[in-house]
Formats: sequence, structure tokens, C-alpha cells
Amino acid sequence: MTETLFYQVAVQSPLRRLFDYLPPSGFGPTLPVGVRVTVPFGKRAVTGIVVSSTSSSDYPADKLKSISAILDTAPLLPPVLFEVLLWAARYYQHPLGEVLASALPTLLRKGGDLPQQSFWRLSTHGKGLPADALRRAPSQQALLQLLQVHDQLSREAIDAAGISTATIRSLKNKALIENFSSTVSGQGFDANGELDLLGEAPLSLSPDQQAALGHIEFHTYNSYLIDGETGSGKTEVYLQAIANVLRHGRQALVLIPEINLSPQTLARFRARFNCPIALIHSGLSERQRLEAWWAAANGSAGIVIGTRSAAFVPLQSPGIIIVDEEHDSSFKQQEGFRYSARDVAVMRANRENIPLLLGSATPSLESLYNCTQQRYHHLSIKGRHGGAVQAQWQLVDICHSQLNTGFSQSAINAIETQLAEGNQILVFLNRRGFAPTLMCHDCGWVANCKHCDAHLTVHTHKPGLHCHHCESRHALPQACPDCASQQLNYLGQGTERSEATLQALFPAAKVHRVDRDTTGNKRAMEGLLEEINTNEPCILVGTQMLAKGHHFPGVTLVVVLDADTSLFSADFRALEKMGQLITQVAGRAGRGEKPGVVMIQSHHCEHPVFELLSQHSYGKFAQHLLRERQFSAMPPFTNAALIRAEFHQGGEALGLLHKARDYLESQVPSSPALRYLGPFPAAMEKRGGRYRYQLTLIGVERRALHQLLGALSHWFEQQKEARKVRWSIDVDPQDSI
Ligand code: ADP
Ligand code: ZN
Ligand code: ZN
Repeated sequence: MTETLFYQVAVQSPLRRLFDYLPPSGFGPTLPVGVRVTVPFGKRAVTGIVVSSTSSSDYPADKLKSISAILDTAPLLPPVLFEVLLWAARYYQHPLGEVLASALPTLLRKGGDLPQQSFWRLSTHGKGLPADALRRAPSQQALLQLLQVHDQLSREAIDAAGISTATIRSLKNKALIENFSSTVSGQGFDANGELDLLGEAPLSLSPDQQAALGHIEFHTYNSYLIDGETGSGKTEVYLQAIANVLRHGRQALVLIPEINLSPQTLARFRARFNCPIALIHSGLSERQRLEAWWAAANGSAGIVIGTRSAAFVPLQSPGIIIVDEEHDSSFKQQEGFRYSARDVAVMRANRENIPLLLGSATPSLESLYNCTQQRYHHLSIKGRHGGAVQAQWQLVDICHSQLNTGFSQSAINAIETQLAEGNQILVFLNRRGFAPTLMCHDCGWVANCKHCDAHLTVHTHKPGLHCHHCESRHALPQACPDCASQQLNYLGQGTERSEATLQALFPAAKVHRVDRDTTGNKRAMEGLLEEINTNEPCILVGTQMLAKGHHFPGVTLVVVLDADTSLFSADFRALEKMGQLITQVAGRAGRGEKPGVVMIQSHHCEHPVFELLSQHSYGKFAQHLLRERQFSAMPPFTNAALIRAEFHQGGEALGLLHKARDYLESQVPSSPALRYLGPFPAAMEKRGGRYRYQLTLIGVERRALHQLLGALSHWFEQQKEARKVRWSIDVDPQDSI
């Protein structure tokens, strides 16, 4: 008797388990791991992925259903990537079906086909003709001869040979050629080695750049942290490393934060390389995404540039992975499958046995720590190119001083001077809207959000009160709803107010505001960047969007209006993020010949972090923070996980976390090696109508912590309450813990 074979299939479902199915009826050969199948699931038919086959099932065979269709002849996800995805599901405690789905474009997730391309070949009749049969119609003869040499040609290849649609039609009408569709096959981006890979000559490297490039071993795994300030030439090192990889017929994967995916970045890659580049980001249509994904998977793209999710894009022959701005928190997905694309990239490079480059002017404490542990190689690139000098820092003590809606007199004077000299100024304030609070002067009423523990922000451009946490919007009241007074005051300032203040102070100057409200669409941002790059004098006022990625060669003065909020935040990463942000902003000032000034307004100028940062030493600043983290046994010296629960009624969410803590204590009692903190209310307890709580786990040993998390997620799945209370496990959380 032959043994029955069962397939374990991952389907997109919140359940952390696989589902057993019988083979498709009448199908003999064993299905390879990684192919998509259609399976009955409840009352629906869904797309799943075969994860393994086994000869025994916990379910009686007569209760099991059969796979209803096989969608792929070969696995879509290469074995190494598949392994990385299995690891990620375990590491981040997320259901495998959802993790695998995140590696596929939506169209494939829904069971769609790989992109098809249109091809032409000779018909039987056409094959019988002599090469000069169409002498009188030279262009038709040319196509005939082409197809006699090549068995089949894609429509694009025929176009490229300069043959018109009319010619194709004529041969088709004579039944000499026929058309068919086929999946584009992976030929490699330079299958015949004919491409002249470089579109321009590489720059000759500085000694530091040369040393960094020289350190990289190309045929084995190593992680390299390329640490150099903005303008030091990190990107040039990436470009030359990529050239090396391409020359060996391998592909490069470059991950960047969404905000850095600018036309300038792309233009730089396109100018340097002649090979096809696939772009993967959130602005693509489903079809574009499928095509870019497939170009990466079949090897026709030599370079793949993408944001977070591209960490899981299949590559036919991976050669290097680069994570630029590795400290950027956008690499961590904050909901659902809460992975860190940077950390996944490290694991992936390791399994693929290829080098990983992490680049930043302000490396994360995690990566710096990994360097001290000899897990990463620390490669520093010093100085800036083009002879630009470092910005000068000025701390402006604003205690007791009169501020003009947030601006000190020193800042106003400095802006005036720079404008008069025809320079550009960047004013940085990490708060959108006009004012963060609306308050009644007579009775003290404050406009609060009904759904959140938060004040509503006053907006004047699209007038109204907006909640920045649940996105609810309300009309601006004419009078106080409590006492009918018309004395409603705007407290504090956001970018809209700073824009208005600057315009009032400098009526002749151009003031541009840059935040999520003004640059909602990519076009708006691109238009603005173009205008800024004309180097006409102007004032830019904006949020962190200004600090990231963009190059502003004409900016000579950066004003940081409010550096104090991060000094006293409950978030243990707040200082690190503030230091990174200010260093990044400072890095935008004074490129080209003009030196820059960075002016920081604070009530706490004596704070040691300002001193360290202003000595141009993000490195020393980071070491200072690392010592603090070590002292308080926080990450990266320990490993953290955050268990969140939220519900419309607070009691139940909190109750579930209390039970979870009891369960944890029953498994491993809290100790200095494995600490449980909480449950506590989240920093904003009520948000979007839900009450939110969290329980933090901090473990010295990663393995022990992860074992416990695995047990905890199974425990959650067995709890009745856990079906209505929304719960999640966040491994290596970015948020406050
Ligand atoms: P980063 O990525 O560190 O911000 P880039 O690689 O973008 O730095 O370099 C900053 C500027 O310096 C760019 O205009 C670049 O063309 C130029 N540059 C980089 N390396 C060199 C070099 N070796 N020689 C001359 N110019 C260079
Ligand atoms: Zn009032
Ligand atoms: Zn709200």
C-alpha cells in the first residue's frame, strides 16, 4: 500500500499554524515546497503556499480536503529566501501565512499569474520559406530572416530591431508568423556579458573610501557599518561595490527609507549603471509592483532599489545587500508583521553568504554595539567632499528670554543676515499644524479629542481641529463650548504658525513649508525641491521630512526651534532619535563653498548631549548614550519585546495582560535575567476609541526570551478573551517600552 502524502499549507490567516491537505486528486508527483496552491478554507477558496509534506497528519485522512489547484510549476520563493521567511515568522512571532504573503506582490497573493510577455515565431508555413522569399518587401524579409535565426522574439526585441507594427501585421496576415504569450524568463540582466555596465566613470576614491571598499569581501557574508557624515561619500562606495557585484553577474539589493526615494537618488544610479534597475516602493500600482518584483526574481534587473518590504524580494543571483540610513525607524514595520527590514537584511545576507553594507551618518546604537561585539566591521569615512567645511553650532539659551512665537531674537537676527546675503535658511520644528492646543482664556477649556487622550491641533490652512492620532477632524469653534467666551487662545506652535510668523517678520522673503500636509503627493515635494535647488534665497520651515535625504546646497543656516521635547521623553530612544535628527539637519547645512551655522534653541543648553553633538561628534554622543543603556540594562545590551493589548473597554485589555503576566511568571519567574514590566497603560492610554496597555519583557539572553515568546503566543491563541481583545507581540520594538 502506498503511503498517503499530506501537504502542510500556509494560508493568510491570523492563526499561527499550518493546515493539512491531501494531494490534488489524480496528481502523482510530489509538489515542491514554495509553490502556490488553491485550497478550500472554511467556505472560501484561498491561495496558500506549500511549506512541507509529511506522511502523517494529526487529522484523520477522511476529514481532510484536497488541494484544489496547483498555481505554479516551480516555487516563486527561492529556498534561501524561504528559509529567511521561516526564520522571520519565528523570530517576530507572526503567522507564517502572513509572513510568506508579505514576500509576494498582491496580484500573486491573490492567485494571479506571473507577468506574460508577447512573443512571435515562424508558423509551420513560414518555416518552409527560403531566406530570400520576400525580396520585394525588404522589411518583411528582415523580420522573416530574424525569426529564422532566433526561434522566438519578444515584441520588445522586434521593436528594438526597428521593425514596425505594420510589418508584423503583414507577415501575420500571410500566416507566416504566429504570436504566443509566455512568462518572461530569467535570463540575467546581462546574460551574454555584452552590456557596458558603467554609464559614467567612477570617481577616484579618497583614502577612507578606498579603505572601506577594500575591506569588503565579496564572496562571503560579513556586515559592514559604513559610518560617515552626510557628504562624506558613502553612496560612492555603494556604487563602486555594486559595480563589482554586477561584473560578476550578480544582483544588488539596496534598501532605503521611503522618504529618500527621490528622483535625485535614482538619477544617480541610472547615470552610473546601464543595467535595468527595478524600483519597489509603496507608490506602485499592483501591476507595476508585480513587474518590478518579477524583474528582481528572474534576474533581469541588476539592481533592485526598494523600501522596507523589498527586504523580502526574491533575487535570482544575489550579490550584495545595502541598507542606507540604517538608523531610520521606517525600516521597522509598526503594525501587523512587525519586522525590521534592516535586521532581516542582516539575516538574509548571512544565509545568502553575501556582504551586507549598513550606511549612516548617525548609526543606530544597535549597530554601533554590534561593531563593539565584532559582529559588524566598523568602517569610518571622514570629512566631506568638495571642500565643504563643517557647520558651526550655536546653542541659544532661551530661559527668561522673550520669544516671538517660538523664535528667539538671536534666531531672527541670524535669519535676517543670511537672507540679506542671498542664502537659504532651514527652520526645523517637529510639529505639524498651527498650534498644538486650543484653550479658552476665560474658563480654561481645552479642545480634546473624544477618541484619544490628546489635544486637537489647530490647523489654519485647511481650517479645523485635527487629531493627529486618530485623524478625526472638526470645525473650529467660534466660541468656547463651555462658557461661550470668544477668547480662544492658540497655545504653542506648529509649522503653519512658524510659517506665518516668518512671513510676517520677512514679508519680502519666500517661505516654503514642508510637512505631511504640504507634500501629501510626491509631485508637490518634487516641485518644491526643484525650486529650492535653484538656490534662490528662501526660508524652508518644516518637520523631520526636511531633515532626511534631501540635499540643500544653498542652506547656510539651520534653526532648531524646540530641541527640549526629546530631553524629557518617556521613550528611551527619544534622545538617540533627537541626536540623529539634529546631526542629520546639521549635515544639510553649508554644502558647497558656504559654511553653515546650526542654531539650537533650548532651555537646557547645559545638557551634556548638546555639548557632545556640537563638537561634531555623533560618535561620542552615541557612546555616552550606550553607557547609559548599559547602566540601565536596556537594549542593545538586552533584548526587549513589547506585548500590547487594546480594546474598546479598558478593563478587558488590561485583564488579559495581567493574565499573560501570570502565565509568564508560571513559566519563568521574573528575575534580573528576564524582567517583566507592567502591564502599564500605553503612553497614550486611549487612542482612536481604544484603550491600550502594554507589558514589556526584557531579557539578557535572546534565546531564552524568544522561547518564552513562542510559548506566550500559543497561550494567547488559547485565551477566549484574546479573540476580541486586539493583542500583539512586538519583538525589538522601536516605541517606548
Ligand atoms: P554620502 O552618501 O555620504 O552623503 P555621497 O556619496 O553622496 O556622500 O557624496 C557627496 C558628494 O561628494 C557627491 O556629490 C559625490 O559625487 C561627491 N563625492 C563622493 N566621493 C567622491 C570622490 N571620491 N571624489 C570626488 N567627489 C566625490
Ligand atoms: Zn470657556
Ligand atoms: Zn483622536
